[in-house]
Amino acid sequence: MTRDELLAIYSRIPTESTCRDCHECAIRCSGAIPLARSEWEGIAAYIETHMSDLEFESLLAQDKRFEVADGVWEEFCILYDVVALRCAVYPVRPLVCRLLGHVEFMPCPLSRVPSVLPDGPEIMRRYAQLERKTVAEWLAGEPRRGCGPRGA
Ligand code: SF4
Repeated sequence: MTRDELLAIYSRIPTESTCRDCHECAIRCSGAIPLARSEWEGIAAYIETHMSDLEFESLLAQDKRFEVADGVWEEFCILYDVVALRCAVYPVRPLVCRLLGHVEFMPCPLSRVPSVLPDGPEIMRRYAQLERKTVAEWLAGEPRRGCGPRGA
């Protein structure tokens, strides 16, 4: 799958007005999601232009843990802003986040999104062939934006 093919899939995913101001699926923003290199490059460029170093470091330093049941804890995605209650890079979020609610295997928890892509499994099969890493792994490979102090 090329970058252009990935962008073509992005363009097929409706931006449903039914999602506006709804955070019911935010709990799905958990764990370390894998994303492709071109997606990471887009996110890194977005961070560079939309966040100061301090804002980005504060985002990484947030306590992302949340309790899903008595004594059962999960962690939000490293890019989920638990203060603002939103994805910090939403306009450039990766494919798996865009597909949430738009494929049968990741339905909208409130059943508000009426349409699903019929070829979701095939999209994921081809997407899985790309080199993918978690945000933390991409960050670890970037000397300027490592998970530790900037510039370290
Ligand atoms: S990148 Fe954004 S939308 Fe995707 S899991 Fe992380 S916080 Fe959620």
